[in-house]
Amino acid sequence: MANPEVTLKPGREHTLRRGHPWVFATSIAREPQGLAPGASVDVLDATGAWLARGAWSPASQIRVRAWTWQRDEAIDAAFFRRRLAAALRLRETLGLGGHEGACRVLNAEGDGLPGVVLDRYGPHLVAQFLSAGAEAFREEIARAALEATACRGVYERSDVEVRAKEGLPQRAGALLGDEPPPEITIREGELRLLVDVRNGHKTGLYLDQRDNRAAVAPFVRGARVLNVFCYTGGFGLAAGVAGASQVTQLDQSAPALELARRNAELNGTAARTEHVQADAFAKLREWRDEGRRFDLIVLDPPKFVASAAQLDSARRGYKDINLLGFKLLAPGGVLCTFSCSGHMQPEMFRETVAEAAADARVQAQVLRQLGQAPDHPFGLHYPEGFYLKGLMLRVM
Ligand code: SAH
Repeated sequence: MANPEVTLKPGREHTLRRGHPWVFATSIAREPQGLAPGASVDVLDATGAWLARGAWSPASQIRVRAWTWQRDEAIDAAFFRRRLAAALRLRETLGLGGHEGACRVLNAEGDGLPGVVLDRYGPHLVAQFLSAGAEAFREEIARAALEATACRGVYERSDVEVRAKEGLPQRAGALLGDEPPPEITIREGELRLLVDVRNGHKTGLYLDQRDNRAAVAPFVRGARVLNVFCYTGGFGLAAGVAGASQVTQLDQSAPALELARRNAELNGTAARTEHVQADAFAKLREWRDEGRRFDLIVLDPPKFVASAAQLDSARRGYKDINLLGFKLLAPGGVLCTFSCSGHMQPEMFRETVAEAAADARVQAQVLRQLGQAPDHPFGLHYPEGFYLKGLMLRVM
């Protein structure tokens, strides 16, 4: 296994040795010239000792992403089959997937396959290849995934901006096997959800919020529920099915709300649900001024922080929306508030929400600290993989 070699500068081997899979360009002393993107390279420390084998990405600041820390492990179709089998065992243990369910089968770095995202929606798989290494092996990965899951086809949704950092164009379309239908109906607990894998956000659904949607159930019987940034309705549908007296779904996206409406029909909650298309900040302010109140509010905004530089403005956004949330809560009400920005650390998020509570002059107790569902695991040495944070709060 003579791969081209990448040699690190002295002292730059620690995180890689511990299991963080990224090697930054600034840590490299000597690198191969003219090597194809995605080719396998061996990474050595400054003394020449072997550290890891990974994928070469000449266009990216993350110059290598490690596939393996085992020197005798080749990166070939069998390697991807092994990683996939291990990932599938976890999902089976979790009781996820199957021909009616939906789950994340491969969570990239978190499942030992940097840049590879694979989601399952009933009998269809949807893949995203986000790095040069993932791109180089896309066909092997798709074939292995189809075999291992006995699904009907793999659809690709590599139409994401991060690909540009790897020098890759965006791409979407059928990759292997049957094309998915325009809509797939999946089950999530008692819910049934329509998914448009071609045009939906991410690969169609926010699978990372599955457990948190279920977590609202105990608090909603007879409650007035407001689901802000509702997308296709997830939290509001869960609340409706669990006995909310009234559900308000709010999003600015018309196609998302259209699916939310049809999901409400499908789950028998339409008569108790209103759908509002508006900018959340403006609408919540309006409702605050009108004195409207809710017993449970979900705030699940999109990523406000794309880079560390935007952190300050993002903090203001989070504080603003949470302040409005607190003001709209009835006494004893519950706020489920989230941040999916990786750059927003959990402690900073808690602090930001605490500032909002202080400005709203409310005391609140933390009922639960929430995160991404366990089919979105992250490496112990790869904290960047923990991106979804949430707090379930009750005002006192
Ligand atoms: N909670 C959802 C996922 C939310 S994703 C679920 O469980 O499925 C974030 C959503 O916020 C998207 O649907 C997007 O259309 C919406 N959005 C983004 N900015 C918005 C704004 N300013 N006002 C209202 N909705 C917004």
